[in-house]
Amino acid sequence: MNNQFEVLIVGGGNAGLSVAAQLSQKKSGLSIGIVEPSEKHYYQPAWTLVGAGEFNIADTEKNEKDYIPAGSIWIKDAVATFEPEQNQVTCKSGAKYTYKILIVAPGIQIDWQNIKGLSDTLGKNEVSSNYSFEIAPYTWELIKNFKGGVAVFTNPSTAIKCGGAPHKIMYLACDYWRKKGILEQCEVHYVSGAGVIFGVKEYAQTLEKVVADNHIFTHFGANTVAIDGKSKTILYEQKNANGEIVHKSLSFDMCHAVPPQSAPDFIKKSPLADPKNTLGYVEINKNTMQHSRYPNVFALGDCTNAPCSKTGAAIRKQAPVVVENVLRVLAQQQPTAEYTGYSACPIPTQYGKLMLAEFDYSNTPKMTFPFDQAKPRWSMWLLKKYILPWLYWNRILTGKA
Ligand SMILES: Cc1cc2nc3c(=O)[nH]c(=O)nc-3n(C[C@H](O)[C@H](O)[C@H](O)COP(=O)(O)OP(=O)(O)OC[C@H]3O[C@@H](n4cnc5c(N)ncnc54)[C@H](O)[C@@H]3O)c2cc1C
Repeated sequence: MNNQFEVLIVGGGNAGLSVAAQLSQKKSGLSIGIVEPSEKHYYQPAWTLVGAGEFNIADTEKNEKDYIPAGSIWIKDAVATFEPEQNQVTCKSGAKYTYKILIVAPGIQIDWQNIKGLSDTLGKNEVSSNYSFEIAPYTWELIKNFKGGVAVFTNPSTAIKCGGAPHKIMYLACDYWRKKGILEQCEVHYVSGAGVIFGVKEYAQTLEKVVADNHIFTHFGANTVAIDGKSKTILYEQKNANGEIVHKSLSFDMCHAVPPQSAPDFIKKSPLADPKNTLGYVEINKNTMQHSRYPNVFALGDCTNAPCSKTGAAIRKQAPVVVENVLRVLAQQQPTAEYTGYSACPIPTQYGKLMLAEFDYSNTPKMTFPFDQAKPRWSMWLLKKYILPWLYWNRILTGKA
């Protein structure tokens, strides 16, 4: 196989495929290699709806080969190390590939092991997580069969993909239990490492009302450190009034857990990682998406240190910026296209009602539609459930949107 490419892309997920497709449309004949170990590609945003019984898990998985853009070469391997001084990567198989431009997009790593006991109990003992393709359907089993008691939903203190997902499923669960007539017998706790329910105040106001209406007990600045499925207890750390860290526990009858996340280990230990970022993300200019030290390296998606919300929606705005800047650098020009930190978080507040939160680096609302998007709507629910999945498979991965 050819081992030299004009553009080499690491990761054929949402970001990698979007960029590959757009690049080949903008410049035909460009030699593009995509290193991607997985036979399957996942539409992860629908896993929240899977956990709520509103989406078939099988419809979130498709064959990677059907989405590799025509003309791009799929290298079915995983990158192990980067040698940016030699414009080279080395894969797990030992194969080496060189490039003119490298685009880094291997997503994020889910650190299940950083919550003690979680891996052992996940998918059983009434502990679930929508952050896994295999486990998300179990969330629906738990919600559907819940008969009342204590339900705990956790959110870590690290950045995660889709910051809204830990509480989206909580609102849907409450609504389901209300309709079933058992919400009064449910004590719902949100144990969150964040300091607030949502970082953009215009949208936070809507969610604060949903929290109040559902009588949810919120614990902010509360970092879950252990989950014991057998004794059905979570342990979390929180600062007291004197600023000292204290340990607290909660017993549960069901728990939806979201573990801490970080850059994939092979990124963390690579020369591409931001040395100042403890979670090891790729060091880029947050506007041009160009690497801060290697001008022929770009990164996008969940793996970067850009301080945006890590979502597919963000990638939709990052991809054209990366494409334009890559083509400029190939033509010996400076990158000028800029990403402004746009991200979107579609938050269902009940079945059939969704608030589409859109914002940028400054946490200023950036609403697409000519109505107040802080108000949950049926039309936005339809967007999330039907239109966005269709757009993803048919327009976004094919580089048309
Ligand atoms: C429960 C949940 C709900 C979400 N909800 C939303 C939502 O409502 N809206 C939204 O916009 N986003 C949502 N997201 C986030 C969205 O799915 C991610 O932000 C997006 O998939 C990130 O794209 P990516 O290309 O960076 O990573 P991914 O799509 O995860 O792709 C990374 C790819 O890199 C590959 N890879 C890994 N290691 C290597 C290696 N060593 N070498 C080569 N390739 C490698 C992987 O196999 C994978 O295919 C949600 C995510 C989850 C889990």
